[in-house]
Amino acid sequence: MKEYTNKEITIVWDDTKCCHSGNCVKGLSKVFNPRARPWVNIHAAGSEEIMKAIDRCPSKALTYRKN
Ligand code: SF4
Repeated sequence: MKEYTNKEITIVWDDTKCCHSGNCVKGLSKVFNPRARPWVNIHAAGSEEIMKAIDRCPSKALTYRKN
C-alpha cells in the first residue's frame, strides 16, 4: 500500500488489487505512468481530474480520500 498526497487529496495505491485494466494509464497518463518511478505523479494534474480517473479503476486498487 502506498500513498501520494497533494494539498487536497491523498491517492491510495494497493498493488495487490490491480487487475491491469489500464484504465488509469489510458485515462490520465501524465499522472499514472507504469514506466516511471514512482509510477504515480500526483502533481502532474489537478485533483478533480485525478479523482475522475480513479473513479474509473474497476478493481479499487486506486482510491482517494479528500484531505
Ligand atoms: S485502473 Fe486500477 S485496476 Fe486498472 S491498471 Fe489502473 S490501478 Fe490497475
